[in-house]
Amino acid sequence: RDRKSEVSPRPSLPGNSAARMSNCTRQIKKLEQDRNQRRIKLEEAKQEKQKQMNADPGNPNWQFLAMIRDHRATLDFSPLALGDTVHDKQIIVCIRKRPLSKKEEAKKEVDVITCPAKDTIIMHECKTKVDLTKYLENQSFRFDYAFDEDATNEMVYKFTAQPLIQTIFDGGMATCFAYGQTGSGKTHTMGGNFNGKNQDVGTGIYALAARDIFKFLLKPKYKKDGLLVRASFFEIYSGKVFDLLNKKKKLRILEDGEAQVVVCDLQEREVKSVEDVMGLIQAGNLVRTSGQTAANQHSSRSHAVFQITLRTKTGQVHGKFSFIDLAGNERGVDTMSTNRQTRLEGAEINKSLLALKECIRALARRGAHLPFRASKLTQVLRDSFIGHNSKTCMIAMISPGLGCSEHSLNTLRYANRVKELDGSGSREE
Ligand code: ADP
Ligand code: MG
Repeated sequence: RDRKSEVSPRPSLPGNSAARMSNCTRQIKKLEQDRNQRRIKLEEAKQEKQKQMNADPGNPNWQFLAMIRDHRATLDFSPLALGDTVHDKQIIVCIRKRPLSKKEEAKKEVDVITCPAKDTIIMHECKTKVDLTKYLENQSFRFDYAFDEDATNEMVYKFTAQPLIQTIFDGGMATCFAYGQTGSGKTHTMGGNFNGKNQDVGTGIYALAARDIFKFLLKPKYKKDGLLVRASFFEIYSGKVFDLLNKKKKLRILEDGEAQVVVCDLQEREVKSVEDVMGLIQAGNLVRTSGQTAANQHSSRSHAVFQITLRTKTGQVHGKFSFIDLAGNERGVDTMSTNRQTRLEGAEINKSLLALKECIRALARRGAHLPFRASKLTQVLRDSFIGHNSKTCMIAMISPGLGCSEHSLNTLRYANRVKELDGSGSREE
């Protein structure tokens, strides 16, 4: 700014010159002070910017990081709390963001996901204009619940699978799906926290549900029914079904005249305690990954289905809870692979995930056509998509890293489509 204009035209004051002088000096001093303060502020801003740069030396994405930080500073955070209301709905669709891993943090990966409210998730899409200016496109999505990186399995369980335990005791069918890209936390959520390569099975949704099922059995109301609890564990790989409780035996799927689907010879083990259930899960997991040079490679291409069935003394199905750790949704790109086997597997996974979405949507629109024959996955789960007492929950997992943005957006869009049920206002694809 022009210094002269600040100092000059000054009304000449009447009275003695000494007073006039001191008044003048005072004003000049004040102006000097103001100028200094402005200078300090400018210097501070410069240093702050420098600090942001220095905080992430060598991080090519520091500008995005700073922009996301600024955006977060404008938000009011009120994340989901354990005491919040649990909705009773036929279909629950929620999202879970895992924390950045140590490895990602070491690589200075940018966290592009924010959960500001209990039902909202924001994806900060990092974009660059042709003139190389960087900017964010913040997309907001709403679900029944949004679990942030601080949510525990116990918390996720409380809002998703736990309310469905009542359903199977009432004689219904329940399903809980873990959907998402490989590495996003599906197995962590369903099977329990990893400690290196070991999994703490007791902290997963399978075991948490088993714990509650055995608690329910002790209630006087159900005790008299003498229900039996049975568990089975199988995997669907490339359209084929393998029994994880029977040395990966290949199983046939049969459909009777009434479209009842039967998985022939599937082992169903009686379980009497949470420990029994955990033992089966561990044994099944071992079978699932044995003989694989890259265990995760295989499990990312298969759906794992763990079922707990309540049977009456005469062997009739009273209720059934199916837990499904789905194949990685990024496998769709495998349809472009040069390897025929890989390409077919990718196509099969795509097909089953699309069929699953349609079946859940059909469940919401009672009486709608149920395209369960479109894939093995939906075929074996057929009885969970029909009947007046079927409930389902889907937990869509998100990896928070910038490098996973594309897959995370796909996951958010898929989950959004599962949730948009009334057709009105929703775009048909
Ligand atoms: P997926 O089954 O989807 O391929 P995993 O469950 O194997 O993914 O998770 C990948 C890694 O991330 C594992 O090391 C797991 O321990 C870790 N992880 C996933 N979700 C969380 C979470 N919510 N909190 C902490 N670590 C997690
Ligand atoms: Mg997994």
